Amino acid sequence: MSAAPSPALAETPLSVLAGVGPALREKLAARGLLTLQDLWLHLPRSYEDRTALTPIRALQPGVAAQVEGRVEAVERGFRYRPQLKVALTDESRATLVLRFFHFRAAQAAQFAVGARVRAYGTPRPGALGLEMVHPGYTLLGAGEHALGEALDPVYPAIEGIGPASLRKLVLQALRHLPPEAALELLPEDWLRALGLPSLHTAILTLHTPPKDADLAALQAGRHPAQRRLALEELLAHQLGLRRQRLALQAEGARALRGDERLVRQLRAALPFTLTGAQERVYAQLRADLRQPRPMLRLVQGDVGSGKTVVAALAALLAVADGRQAALMAPTELLAEQHLANLRTWLQPLGVEVCWLAGKVTGKARAQALQAVASGAAQVVVGTHALMQEGVEFHDLALAIIDEQHRFGVHQRLALRDKGRRGVPHQLVMTATPIPRTLAMSAYADLDVSAIDELPPGRTPVTTIALSAERRPELVERIRAACAEGRQAYWVCTLIDDSDEVQAQAAQSTFEALQTVLPGVRVGLVHGRMKAAEKQATMRAFKDGALGLLVATTVIEVGVDVPNASLMVIENAERLGLAQLHQLRGRVGRGSVASTCVLLYQPPLSALARQRLDTLRQTNDGFVIAEKDLELRGPGELLGTRQTGLASFRMADLVRDADLLPQVHALADRLLGEAPDVAERIIARWVGGAARYAAA
Ligand code: ADP
Ligand code: MG
Repeated sequence: MSAAPSPALAETPLSVLAGVGPALREKLAARGLLTLQDLWLHLPRSYEDRTALTPIRALQPGVAAQVEGRVEAVERGFRYRPQLKVALTDESRATLVLRFFHFRAAQAAQFAVGARVRAYGTPRPGALGLEMVHPGYTLLGAGEHALGEALDPVYPAIEGIGPASLRKLVLQALRHLPPEAALELLPEDWLRALGLPSLHTAILTLHTPPKDADLAALQAGRHPAQRRLALEELLAHQLGLRRQRLALQAEGARALRGDERLVRQLRAALPFTLTGAQERVYAQLRADLRQPRPMLRLVQGDVGSGKTVVAALAALLAVADGRQAALMAPTELLAEQHLANLRTWLQPLGVEVCWLAGKVTGKARAQALQAVASGAAQVVVGTHALMQEGVEFHDLALAIIDEQHRFGVHQRLALRDKGRRGVPHQLVMTATPIPRTLAMSAYADLDVSAIDELPPGRTPVTTIALSAERRPELVERIRAACAEGRQAYWVCTLIDDSDEVQAQAAQSTFEALQTVLPGVRVGLVHGRMKAAEKQATMRAFKDGALGLLVATTVIEVGVDVPNASLMVIENAERLGLAQLHQLRGRVGRGSVASTCVLLYQPPLSALARQRLDTLRQTNDGFVIAEKDLELRGPGELLGTRQTGLASFRMADLVRDADLLPQVHALADRLLGEAPDVAERIIARWVGGAARYAAA
């Protein structure tokens, strides 16, 4: 391990740089750039090679290049929107069109016929040969103009700061970069064995790559300098999560006695017996809860695997000890369903189940808060509202979080902090299966178990992809299904995330389907409806009073109607695999054969086709998760925009997955041998980010 570098320099505020006044500082701070070190680690997202010129004739579509030529013709058009086309020719006697849609008059005037222009961009096939849309360019005067000496880094844009100014700032910050020995935190033997450069070399290489650097590797993020940084960043996150886990466990928690009287009563009352997988996971939970340290367990189980009842059993262990359990779900609809299930299961046993959501207001809210605070509410079910200020538990023993991928780590922590009399045990549930290597990194602070078996009697869902032109056939199919007493979902999806736009689309689909299906009772749920209205519609659908339910993706998680055996998902090509799989999980919950129809707008992109094919081929959430990972990367897979997992500066869990075993081994070594170094690595990469604060 190297000598301790001075942390002071790294933490020096950016105001030491020339030209950084309050206004600029604010813009940088808005992107989280506060210290010199933040700029050292503000890494380019790509590189441009302006060290050479490519003859226009040798340009290849899709391959970025720099060209130089003379303006042969200029055309300004206004037919549909303003545009400027500049034809360039060079000595290879070929022509390239530069095309601009946004330009100022002065800019257009620069391009006189005969002017010399150097342009950098990615050529694409156009109407008259290759063209570059909005290339970077310079007008050259007479004489020699030197080419670039090094590759040009392209930084992630920062609002209000031009690329050239940002570049200058980074170069200025690099002049303060401490010498190699003062910067390095990783063991040298380890780096040597992996063939990776020092941090010092890596940072300089990435900001100022030499002319002969391997551009292809850099663009792919596989350059040794990038892998060096990825290794340390992954290590920092791993250490942060592990430290958080250790800190929590050190605090201890009150063990539950594991009194199963209530559990036995519930088992006897259930209309089914638990699957082997449910039994196994329940036994793990019970063993965890009997320990005098907080349980930190993630239960993965595919949609419909029966996680809720297992959570209910665990909650009963808390209740049996005279303490409280809380169950938090990401959407109101899902929370309401949990409430209904838990009331059905637990109230006959004399257990008080209380409801707390954002829409519980006024007197009802005051009453709920009072029940939670006095302990009269033994099990509390709700949404994010559970974590709000003013919610005081009497004695929270177990915090259960459903559909974890919808919550950020910090939200998980907030519920944990509700344990006034010590840290509560935590049970986190997710229907988004995560490949093992990834789970070890994403959830290094949790133990993971899987309910990897579905309750018996389920028939696998048949999935078909259908072009939207064939909608009329589908309407027939729904009519037939409903005539047989079966039920169907019609899911409307839009790229637009706003509830409002989604609600409108669902509303018009609802009206259209009502018109073409006069014999079918059609219902509608969307995010803009009142909770009571939504609930009434859901109940009507559950009770079979409605044949067809038109819905937005609010029904995505957890909704359970066993008699529904047909699902249509509109615009399926726009959704990710995980989300489609979740939606599809709403059918195939009963014993009738179910069908999921993925309705798409042709033409399908290659990626969209692969996604739809994957869904047609398998119902296995783990297989889908692997494929999802391969097709789009972990950020979206985990739905972790908020957890920070997707916001790695350098690392990419998929691309750098081969580093993970090293990361885990290195984390073990550092936590054992050099916890102070571990601290500094965390501080360097994760900084003060509250999500890892060891509370
Ligand atoms: P998920 O894991 O997706 O949250 P749920 O907990 O909603 O699944 O369970 C899906 C359905 O399966 C519910 O209707 C539940 O009552 C039922 N169920 C759970 N366990 C079993 C079992 N062992 N046998 C039969 N049905 C079960
Ligand atoms: Mg569920």
